[in-house]
Amino acid sequence: MPRIQPIGIDLGTTYSVIAALDPGGRTRIVANAEGESLTPSVVVFEDQQTLVGKSARKLGTSKVDRLAECVKRDMGAAVYSRPIRGEFLPPEVIQACILRQLKQDAVRALGPEVAAVITVPAYFDEPRRKATSDAGEMAGWNVLDIVNEPTAAALAFGEDLGYLTPQGDPRAPLTVLVYDLGGGTFDVTIIQLRPGDLRTLATDGDVQLGGRDWDLRLAGHAADAFASEHGSNPRANPVSWQRLLGEIDEAKRTLSVRHQTSVRVEHEGQTTHVPVTRALFAELTADLLERTAHTTRQVLKDAGLEWSQIDRVLLVGGSSRMPMVAEMIERLSGQRPERSVNPDEAVARGAAIYAGYLLAERGLAERPATFRVTNVNAHSLGIEGVDPRTGRRQNAILIPRNSPLPVRRMREFVTRTVNQNSIVLRVLEGESSQPEDCTAIGRTVIAGLPKPLPQGWPIRVTYEYGTNGRLSVRGQVPGTDREAILEIERERGLTPELLGQWGSAVAADAGLDPFEALIAAALQDQPAAETQPLELLPAQDATTDDLNPARGGDQEPLSAPEQANGQRLPADAIADGGGEPHASSFPDSHPGIQLERAPRKRGTGTLAYLTGHLLFSALGLVVGYYLLCWLAPDANFLHLRLPGLHP
Ligand code: ADP
Ligand code: MG
Repeated sequence: MPRIQPIGIDLGTTYSVIAALDPGGRTRIVANAEGESLTPSVVVFEDQQTLVGKSARKLGTSKVDRLAECVKRDMGAAVYSRPIRGEFLPPEVIQACILRQLKQDAVRALGPEVAAVITVPAYFDEPRRKATSDAGEMAGWNVLDIVNEPTAAALAFGEDLGYLTPQGDPRAPLTVLVYDLGGGTFDVTIIQLRPGDLRTLATDGDVQLGGRDWDLRLAGHAADAFASEHGSNPRANPVSWQRLLGEIDEAKRTLSVRHQTSVRVEHEGQTTHVPVTRALFAELTADLLERTAHTTRQVLKDAGLEWSQIDRVLLVGGSSRMPMVAEMIERLSGQRPERSVNPDEAVARGAAIYAGYLLAERGLAERPATFRVTNVNAHSLGIEGVDPRTGRRQNAILIPRNSPLPVRRMREFVTRTVNQNSIVLRVLEGESSQPEDCTAIGRTVIAGLPKPLPQGWPIRVTYEYGTNGRLSVRGQVPGTDREAILEIERERGLTPELLGQWGSAVAADAGLDPFEALIAAALQDQPAAETQPLELLPAQDATTDDLNPARGGDQEPLSAPEQANGQRLPADAIADGGGEPHASSFPDSHPGIQLERAPRKRGTGTLAYLTGHLLFSALGLVVGYYLLCWLAPDANFLHLRLPGLHP
């Protein structure tokens, strides 16, 4: 059996990087076809050809209507925010084109037996994670898993410091704060390294904040300076603006090593050099930097730590090279940030280490894994219910954010009405108690509840959240020997069928033309929010395995306290049992939160509405006619005469 080579892919907003793990367990960066380690995450769609990387970036300045860049920012949305030749493509399809190019580069260097871990910002929610792994599948990768970028960076750091084996010199636990400011996203995560063990303590971030925002500020300044000199603003012209953004990226990098430079602005045949200083750049972007500082302070609070308990601050992501970042971190923490890891390469290298770890765990590597990784979830997971005291809908959280993964939590809810024949389980991701402020990530229905069923009948809901950040849901009706294992039906994302069709078009590597027919289909075929009622299945014993072998004895046991006599468990028996890692973010209890029945099928409702409408219209006509005849008895309406009204 040929050895499967573990590959790490840092699929960045602006640059992507591939790393491999050699048989000796050391990571190395795999160069692309141009011999470079960074591939710009840029795609240009010609009619019959797709360009990715540096060539796409060059061509893109003149073919703006064919250019796709910063697509990662739109992951999770139905379509990429800008039209390509007038057409809207799903963002994961564009990402798949980048990943296909990366696969060609990896296969050329390492052969066809490759399997990958793709990185995502820790703050990515479920739809964005799913879209990323879909993109990998469409590109023809064997996707082992998705891993958080800060976790990957910490793995690379751990490798350098020798923390990835339990043997060797005894090393003190190291608490590391990873500050990752890339091109389009920002993440901050606190991770604890022990020999052979890596554990995330808390994470937070912003998926709409990165170097690109710094670029836009500086570009805006340069464009305004041009406009006040020449009277017309380069912002108004997509080609001039795109060219200016290219100049800005260079100027920004210069400002990371020098105190001043100038930006060349070209528009409508005129050229101006706008001088910029590091101090002016810092002034223009002070609020952006402060947003990262705020999140950093917040994550420290979430982890329940003081700066004195942070041993190292690791700067990751190209934008952390801006001197203002290190200065801010020093001001906040009182320590100089760690400079030993390459901020561009750390994430891909760590992902390759994680790919090797997963292959070892699955028995597909020559040697067993020498370390363990424990992650946390970045967003709380809850369910939509109704508070009986107020009658208002609310998000009842089952798994609070920053829970170590994998985790399983059970909560008990009740039916809302007498003889309720179905229950809706609407899965929410987010911190707010208002469902409308959360992301609805899936919805399903348990139909066919037994009769008679009084109001307030208990329904047990169990969420199981895996290490990869994916969720499965189980609904159970106590008092019966039956339960339903629920597959979440996603409210967003491509259906498996469409994935296959898009995948073939991506594999064809033949420009925009093969996508044409699919674009129309995709827009019509957005997965409906309607769900299939699920059959109740014979009950299976709830597993009592500890889901997380990495946990210490002081952690909360995850197993369900099974009761042999089949009696009802006390509400929240599992959810609130044991020590909570972050009890403060966990709601006290959900007294009798009610789950509603599924709304009537749209077809029946529409029919009833139409029938009612017709009946009342007919009645209205008759009454109107009688009224008119009564008011004007001599008129001969429709040549009809009604008995009794006309003498
Ligand atoms: P991503 O992973 O989101 O693609 P990267 O970590 O590759 O991001 O970082 C890319 C960002 O870093 C871009 O916005 C780029 O302009 C910025 N960047 C790279 N090098 C420097 C530098 N020397 N000074 C300032 N910004 C930089
Ligand atoms: Mg990155």
